Amino acid sequence: MKLIFVGPQGSGKGTQAKRIARKFGLCHISTGDLLREVDGELKTEVDKIMSRGDLVSDELIVRILKEKLESDECKSGFILDGFPRNVAQVEELAKITEIDRVVEIAISDEESVRRISGRRGCGKCGAIYNIATAPKPKVEGVCDDCGGELIQRKDDNEEALRERLKVYHEDTESILERYTSVRVDGEQSIEKVFEGVVEVLD
Ligand code: AMP
Repeated sequence: MKLIFVGPQGSGKGTQAKRIARKFGLCHISTGDLLREVDGELKTEVDKIMSRGDLVSDELIVRILKEKLESDECKSGFILDGFPRNVAQVEELAKITEIDRVVEIAISDEESVRRISGRRGCGKCGAIYNIATAPKPKVEGVCDDCGGELIQRKDDNEEALRERLKVYHEDTESILERYTSVRVDGEQSIEKVFEGVVEVLD
């Protein structure tokens, strides 16, 4: 299966993509995560763009994505999470691979702001928590799984988020017109959204 998950910030698409990838034996490719792992010369520039809520260049993200798609772990199928984000990226993707399904996880802007302001991630293992919604960590600021420190992403502040939502509505939503997509209501519990996604994929 070759899938794309689309949804605004805080829709839970990363959480769902991870779970669905595990269930179906697919590789989960989050371009945001790949960019956060960039080091060397590029790091300062990439960090600056991301903390403003802007997109990095199509050329850079396509290069990083291609490398990942060619790796052995992604040979039996994948879920793209955060890519493509505009029409130019849709066209680049078409040159690299075909896509079977596009799943849209929909939430309102108000819900996005509410969820993102509470989002915290473990700096050590990457587990995601939410102090405004759920799952909340058992001990404030500490990861339940590995004891790592919980931190807020630099671009999870209100100003950057408003910019990211604007980019989402202006550019990313338009990619839905390029594919046949299925929509799942993202304002339900994590479990219900998961069941909804499994249902559309089965
Ligand atoms: P995300 O984790 O998907 O919210 O992505 C975080 C940030 O990474 C975005 O705000 C962009 O700055 C950058 N980014 C992620 N995916 C892409 C992409 N496909 N094209 C350009 N920039 C991206």
